[in-house]
Amino acid sequence: MRYECIGCGRTFDPHKKLYTCPECGSLLEIELDLEAVKEKIDPDVFESEEPTTWKYRPFMPIFDDSKIVSLREGGTPLYRCERLAEEIGVQELYVKYEGTNPTGSFKDRGMTVGVTKALEFGLNTVACASTGNTSASLSAYAAKAGLKCVVLLPKAKVALGKLAQAIIHGAQVIAIDGNFDRALEIVRRICDERENVYLLNSVNPFRSQGQKSIGFEIADQLDFVSPDRVVLPMGNCANIWSIYKGFFEFKETSIVESIPKMTGVQAEGAMPVVDAIKRGLEEFEPVEDPETIATAIRIGNPVNGPKALKAIRESRGTAESVTDDEIVRAQKMLARHEGLGVEPASASSIAGLIRLVEDDRIYRDERIVCVVTGHILKDPQEAIEVSEPPIEVPADYEEVIKRLGS
Ligand SMILES: *Cc1c(COP(=O)(O)O)cnc(C)c1O
Ligand SMILES: [Zn+2]
Repeated sequence: MRYECIGCGRTFDPHKKLYTCPECGSLLEIELDLEAVKEKIDPDVFESEEPTTWKYRPFMPIFDDSKIVSLREGGTPLYRCERLAEEIGVQELYVKYEGTNPTGSFKDRGMTVGVTKALEFGLNTVACASTGNTSASLSAYAAKAGLKCVVLLPKAKVALGKLAQAIIHGAQVIAIDGNFDRALEIVRRICDERENVYLLNSVNPFRSQGQKSIGFEIADQLDFVSPDRVVLPMGNCANIWSIYKGFFEFKETSIVESIPKMTGVQAEGAMPVVDAIKRGLEEFEPVEDPETIATAIRIGNPVNGPKALKAIRESRGTAESVTDDEIVRAQKMLARHEGLGVEPASASSIAGLIRLVEDDRIYRDERIVCVVTGHILKDPQEAIEVSEPPIEVPADYEEVIKRLGS
């Protein structure tokens, strides 16, 4: 195992605590020795293990199993959604529902590895900046590990459920008068200056290693035949890269034959990566004041933007933007046709699919998986605001019947 710089290609010792390339400052990626991994894979283990992120242990970059911090993340359902498919006009649609993770979002898959790494590095504090779910997840895993946790949030627009989680798990929560991108700058500086604090933002290359398990599970749940396409929201863009990497590693180790077309969706008010794909740019241009109802992807300067561009281009996928209205409409479709409650960012994958189908940019007979990233209860206020309020009547049988109509 090694760190490898995605800019200059230099490699570094994975026993050292690094976030970005010490030589050129680019993002680092963890590269495993896949030949060695392949030898460790036991087909029977895939059958018998509990379905968590650790089912795929040979692909996880951990040296010491006794340090593993797990809340049994992963093992989320892959639903075949026939009613939704019919509504949208595609033949075979699956939804990977990440809301059943321990803290209600896929972030747990990355944090189980990230917090385990903090223990392996011998550190006593973990930190992150967050639009909400990263802090909710980190504070829970820090609690489980017995580590101190510092969380920086933008003061405005953190969804209620996420804030409640960060606070109840005992993190030190600091709300700054600025947006996520600013909070990240500050927390990165703290972690650069203090040796005992481990940074668990998207720049951390180990979180992505846990999130690869979304790709592993999708393949596993489809009997090791990759779908044609995976559609998901992009914020800081760690997840699209991670899922791509999961399929890539399964392909390299001969577990699957192909990699799905990675298809990323952003909200119109925060779409730097979509813009770069559409204009064929080498690098994306950050968005100054990102704005969208989908707070989890309200990101103007995505840390892993370069990796997202690579995942999309190398898998011959695409990217699309959607409006807030389209996101809300998709959120309601999922809730009402399939019984799945998701937070707005998650619904953008469905909204993106609808757009791509309408524009004939997706074949209707493709086997498609949409990843929905977080639970509805993360952002209850939004759900209430976009819905009809309850009908209020006197506590009287006749009054109730009158309102029910036929
Ligand atoms: C973090 C998050 C995203 C965005 O994921 P990235 O890896 O930052 O692109 C999308 N939806 C939800 C619910 C999230 O918590
Ligand atoms: Zn470098």
